[in-house]
Amino acid sequence: MHQPSLPHLHDQDPDIAGLVEAEARRQYEKIRLIASENYVSPAVLEATGSVLTNKYSEGYAGRRYYEGQQNVDPIELLAIERAKALFGVEHANVQPYSGSPANLAVYMAFLDPGDKVMGLSLPMGGHLTHGWSVSATGKWFTPVRYDVRADTGRVDMDQVRDLALKERPKLIWCGGTAIPRTIDFPAFAEIAREAGAVLAADIAHIAGLIAGGAHPSPVGHAEVISTTTHKTLRGPRGAMVMSTAEHAKAIDKAVFPGLQGGPHDHTTAAIAVALKEAAQPEFADYASQIVANARALADALLERGYDLVSGGTDNHLILIDLTNKGVAGKPAAQALDRAGIELNYNAVPFDPRKPFDPSGLRLGTSSITTRGLTEQQMPQLAAWIDEVVQATAKDDEAVLARIADQVRELLAGYPMPGWAPTP
Ligand SMILES: *Cc1c(COP(=O)(O)O)cnc(C)c1O
Repeated sequence: MHQPSLPHLHDQDPDIAGLVEAEARRQYEKIRLIASENYVSPAVLEATGSVLTNKYSEGYAGRRYYEGQQNVDPIELLAIERAKALFGVEHANVQPYSGSPANLAVYMAFLDPGDKVMGLSLPMGGHLTHGWSVSATGKWFTPVRYDVRADTGRVDMDQVRDLALKERPKLIWCGGTAIPRTIDFPAFAEIAREAGAVLAADIAHIAGLIAGGAHPSPVGHAEVISTTTHKTLRGPRGAMVMSTAEHAKAIDKAVFPGLQGGPHDHTTAAIAVALKEAAQPEFADYASQIVANARALADALLERGYDLVSGGTDNHLILIDLTNKGVAGKPAAQALDRAGIELNYNAVPFDPRKPFDPSGLRLGTSSITTRGLTEQQMPQLAAWIDEVVQATAKDDEAVLARIADQVRELLAGYPMPGWAPTP
């Protein structure tokens, strides 16, 4: 049963209700390793599904363009105060609809069309919005891209410095979507200072680790910090842009009226709830357990001969290069999905294969950590992954159903926030 339960939805729209329940069961029965996903708490679900969705509140607290903000203003102010306290920042804007619009707001605040922006290239682990060619950010601005080193799989800081001093971008992004290693914020800050660029840290993936003390913070190094709220931070689909006091006005103006209309107040409330949860001592345990699980899983995969980009992980994320296993990423990901293990195929640095059919797999341990799995289960998980990858190479479907059963059996011992099977 869904928590909160969905009696009206079942009555009025059984088609959608059935699909929502089916999705909940799918999330319950699968080992979810998609690095950007999580399970939010029932409290976050309740706030997200509340009557706040009925409200319009363009503007900011005390300066709205619509009346009736008696409750929305304090909600947004609480979310802002909690973000500032949790991350130790001077300013927080909690209105961006999601990570991509939040990043666009950073461009809007600091760049004019055509200005140079520097970011980690997409196939190396960067995000689309850091100036990749198909993104508005790569079409409307002039991208300069840095890479990871072929020998270490880590960001090439010498190249970052050389490029920054040669190209003089106005904005430098650090962070990305497929980076298994600690981001060296002080080194980026030094380079940005030398180059006269604004440094923006995109911590979408690692915000929960930073909040929980399991990854160094960019605060004091990057003057602008953007993040989603739904990945390791374990809140609703949403985003924030945080900054020093100096940039507060520019950021706020860029989000509204620069890019957006009314903020999603139900999301703002859910962000406030998630930030409160992230300030509890248990959240630090969760954050360090995410990293412990990722390390244990990486070790178990290495033992089985898997080639991990950068040789391992410092955070929640592991990037496997399957080349030495004679299987491509996509068929392996699809077979794993049939075996109850959900992740995504991903390009690896210097991937000789095409982006839609790349050589790698990306996985993350935040969801399974929320579920309560620990280092103890990681060797078993690596064994299942290995069995499926080998089965993919041999086209052996029978193994997959058996593993899916075993996965279901294991997960029945680990409750899922937001849904439970009806007894
Ligand atoms: C997920 C992510 C985003 C975009 O977030 P959306 O909410 O999907 O738009 C931006 N930057 C990074 C680094 C991300 O990982």
